[in-house]
Amino acid sequence: MKEYSVEEIKTIVRPRLGEEVPLVLFRILRIIGIRQILGESSGATLYMMGKKVGAMVGARDLDDFRLKIQELKVGIPEVETIDEDHLNIKLYECITCAGFTYTGEMFCDMESGIIAGLLESIYKKKAKSTQTKSWSVGYNYCEFEVFLY
Ligand SMILES: [Zn+2]
Repeated sequence: MKEYSVEEIKTIVRPRLGEEVPLVLFRILRIIGIRQILGESSGATLYMMGKKVGAMVGARDLDDFRLKIQELKVGIPEVETIDEDHLNIKLYECITCAGFTYTGEMFCDMESGIIAGLLESIYKKKAKSTQTKSWSVGYNYCEFEVFLY
């Protein structure tokens, strides 16, 4: 199977429809489609997908990290550095869960992976991101705890 680069998929010719897609389509694919097809393994798969996205996009520093997350419209991040190997990322307006009703489970695995992938490209270390808050468990933002190792 051929692997495609960001450069190859960037050319979009849609003179009437443009480059944007409705967020509801994304959420159907992401929350309903992928979860129903992959079932219990969807979390790990989405996390790995996200890490790939983060690695392909890349970031130079934390300012660039904030910029890239917003440019991709994944959300609006707020970064708190706990210590050199420990960060806390709040994500406002999360692409997947912002506005979501209380369900008691968290599923922003792709976003978690994107955050980890981008941070790996900055720090040149491995990153493990774990979601700790979400709209779907009663907050009005998402939060991820990240350890670099
Ligand atoms: Zn979220």
